[in-house]
Amino acid sequence: MQTRYNSKSKHLGVTPPSPSPSLSRASRSTALNCRKTSRAHTSLAYASFLCLAVVGTLLGTSSCGAIERVTDAAKGTPKVRTVKMYTTEPNVRVRIHSAVPKVTIDGVPTLVVRPKTVGSTVGRAESMAAPLVITSSRNGLIFTDPKGKKVQWPAGQDAEILPTASEGTSVRIDGVNYPGFAIVSSKADGNATTMDVIVDMPIEAYIPGVLSHELWKDWPRQTYECQAVAARSYAVHERERSRREGKPFDLEDTTADQVFGGTTKLRMPMETAQATRGLILTWRGEVLRAYYSSQCGGRSASAAAVWSTSQRFEFNEAEPIQGKPRPHYCQRSPRYRWEVTRPDDDVNQRLRAYGRMRNTDLQNVTRVRKIEINERNDADRPNTYTVTDDRDREYIVRAEDLRAALNHAVKGLPAITPETIVHSGDLEAEVWANTIRFRGRGWGHGVGMCQWCAKGMADAGMDWASMIKTFYPEAEVVKAW
Ligand SMILES: [Zn+2]
Repeated sequence: MQTRYNSKSKHLGVTPPSPSPSLSRASRSTALNCRKTSRAHTSLAYASFLCLAVVGTLLGTSSCGAIERVTDAAKGTPKVRTVKMYTTEPNVRVRIHSAVPKVTIDGVPTLVVRPKTVGSTVGRAESMAAPLVITSSRNGLIFTDPKGKKVQWPAGQDAEILPTASEGTSVRIDGVNYPGFAIVSSKADGNATTMDVIVDMPIEAYIPGVLSHELWKDWPRQTYECQAVAARSYAVHERERSRREGKPFDLEDTTADQVFGGTTKLRMPMETAQATRGLILTWRGEVLRAYYSSQCGGRSASAAAVWSTSQRFEFNEAEPIQGKPRPHYCQRSPRYRWEVTRPDDDVNQRLRAYGRMRNTDLQNVTRVRKIEINERNDADRPNTYTVTDDRDREYIVRAEDLRAALNHAVKGLPAITPETIVHSGDLEAEVWANTIRFRGRGWGHGVGMCQWCAKGMADAGMDWASMIKTFYPEAEVVKAW
């Protein structure tokens, strides 16, 4: 543990983001899509500029060892306790479109359109032919079918669109198949009106569509099983939270929550979801928000250091999602170690802009002279950094905020690309004459399960229960339905 206290005046750089879908995908991806990791690592060449300051002591060599083989002791049957939290399998509501002007629904010959509010006298149930086109106007939703039937509802009435009972349990929305039914919710957006499209489905029908997008097709079964338990726990946690808070949907279908691509026909996601049916993680009787990310780079992060722990976010203090020393197996991941060099003015401008957006003191940073680790967690991963500018002012910045700030879009600056993105908040910075070089570990926030470690563990012979124990120590596996 290396904690440095500085007697100079400190400016609190930024406050932590709370885990909400409004945060940028790149900065807070709960579940970074592994498919993106196929891009080749670009090693940037840079000239030998005068080194003004070399800071940080991050990149040790101890964690770069070869992947071990696990002993038989690491294998075993999962210890599962049956706690019937639900009498039947719960459903989840996933937002698949945000603020779109039009949506087309088909997949079956006939669809039933009915008001979302039960017993509503505004709008009535209609049977319409597919493909059904729905548009939003200031006067309400308009439904048009290919037989020339057109129905308009008054503003403010949301709709549920279901297949007729004899025609199945799924629908196709803008060309993608989804289990369950659609909810179309109109939104006034200035003068324009748009719609959110949400799919309501049984949670076990949702899990395979997450697995097929979060993991590579040829990855081992045990990795899929581990991911299924983590993804199901995360979804149940978010389901309970959004319903407690009266939100119209539970999850986004992007890396803001978990990537979900609709119905899958792939065997591995379907079989492993089925094999782990109903299994979720709890801690002290509460469902665990089982975060996971692409690559931990060898050191796991702490949820309490990454996200808010204030009222309503106390779940980020759960012990199993705080970074602890653990063996790691992601040495073969494409971003296990990475390097990015940026012009220093690019960094200065992005930090200032991020500070302005968050209304913190970071907006006053002049020219960055040093970025040093301020505090680490028990796994030795940085929790916070101290940014020092050329006026000797210091700003304490959370690791994930530093990553978000460095990737923050600023008008007039080049767009962030896969080659220039800062992949994680576990990094060291070297400030040169007019460039700053970042060398870092892993990809994603680094809390909880590491998908590439789970791949390495499966290759080494570990089962999913042992993996879960490593990623979420002290969590209990519970059969909830
Ligand atoms: Zn890892």
